Amino acid sequence: MRSGLVLTAVVCLAMTAAAQTPGELKAARVLAADVKQGPLAAHAFLAKMPKGSDLHVHLSGAVYAETFLKNGAEDGLCINTTAKAFAKKQGSECAKGDVPAESVFKNQALYDAMINSFSMRSFVPSSGWSGHDQFFATFGKFGGLDKKHAGEWVDEVASRAAGQNEQYLEIMHTPDFGPSASLGYKLGWSDDLEALREKLLTGAVRENVKSAIAEIDAVEATRKSVAHCGTPQAAPACTMTVRYIFQVLRAFPPQQVFAQTLLGFELASVDPRVVGINYVQPEDTYMSMSEYDRQMKFLQFLKTKYPKVHLSLHAGELAPGMVAPEGLKFHIREAVEVAGAERIGHGVDVMYETDADTLLKEMAEKHVMVEINLTSNDGILGITGKNHPLANYRAAKVPVSLSTDDEGVSRGNLTQEYTRAAMEQGLTYLELKNMARTGMEHNFLPGEDLWTQPDAWGKPRAVCAGQALGGDRPTAKCTEFLKGSEKAAQQWELERRFRVFEAGVQ
Ligand SMILES: [Zn+2]
Repeated sequence: MRSGLVLTAVVCLAMTAAAQTPGELKAARVLAADVKQGPLAAHAFLAKMPKGSDLHVHLSGAVYAETFLKNGAEDGLCINTTAKAFAKKQGSECAKGDVPAESVFKNQALYDAMINSFSMRSFVPSSGWSGHDQFFATFGKFGGLDKKHAGEWVDEVASRAAGQNEQYLEIMHTPDFGPSASLGYKLGWSDDLEALREKLLTGAVRENVKSAIAEIDAVEATRKSVAHCGTPQAAPACTMTVRYIFQVLRAFPPQQVFAQTLLGFELASVDPRVVGINYVQPEDTYMSMSEYDRQMKFLQFLKTKYPKVHLSLHAGELAPGMVAPEGLKFHIREAVEVAGAERIGHGVDVMYETDADTLLKEMAEKHVMVEINLTSNDGILGITGKNHPLANYRAAKVPVSLSTDDEGVSRGNLTQEYTRAAMEQGLTYLELKNMARTGMEHNFLPGEDLWTQPDAWGKPRAVCAGQALGGDRPTAKCTEFLKGSEKAAQQWELERRFRVFEAGVQ
């Protein structure tokens, strides 16, 4: 029995190896040697590897503290030197004890302290203050900046991504939802979702959609102007395709969360730049935990009203001890089965869910992808190595891809995620390549898939078969198909980049 198993394993390995192209085999050998040498060599190799997309990235969390300090000075903000946070002026002056934000550039000690305060840099947990606490506290500290900077922030994120051979971003962002939330509070909560939706739509949400569209117009215009897109001086950031995911703050009462969610669904159904919805904020807060069931149910309701709007949900971003054991048992399953999420963000506590094995099987069958954020999970949850369920997801054939979550707060980037996956999770070149392909397949772009089967990359559609994958000159029929599918066009481009990259590996 045992020798039979060994023989099967050898045959399987041989089959996998035989399916690899010479370029893949060469790249795999180089990465394996680099991994043996250490993380620096692996990082240098992986920085250049095509990574396709980053599907889990929060705009404000992706910006580095240095940028926020510059913006704070431009906006004339002050700094509360005790809280190490931005503060508003009182009248024309900073409050007593506060200093102008621009003073950080002449005070190295304060500059250092502010960067630490706005990020995980130099952070060491202490009694009563964990990585989780530090991480989420940063958002309040750099809050208060003018929204006009959002376009520059998108440019920063896109520039960084372009520099790491990425091509597509789905950035989580929160357009102003004040009018919708105010009406939500005014109306109060009612379980009659149908009636509540009507009142919200006519009373505020439809108008709020217009202002949200205008906000995204401004973000895009700034990003394009900052990068000189469409001119001979166009920066590499212009090559990035950027879409947005409307993020809803989950740690609030249902009258606000429902109103904001409705705004997101309405916006995503009319603005093609907004490709989906996600719920954010710490999952272990009192409101997130106590409202979880209700939130999944109203997402289920809204999915029936807007079946074409995509949904990704932070679910299972929890570690044992962070909540009562019962709290670890159902978030991912409800996100999948009740809300109908097509992607899960983090999914770290999956093995603590009730019937974890059947849940994994269901996710694999439904092709629900998990956005894996290794650095963030380490910093916020203290989860690394074998305590991370990446291997469990992979063994169950649940699709997974790597993302950054909050690279500014974490002080990382997507290459770092790939390096961790290679060094700490033992992933090979082909496994990383397939994770990049997985991200391209499960993004929320419209259009048909390049591949004939989900989560399998052997066969392209007949219309594009029989030619070099990602070739520079696809046949006329294939070109036509790619023009009609934004998703397939991105997938073709990823294959093109792999072909170029693998040909250049020494
Ligand atoms: Zn996140």
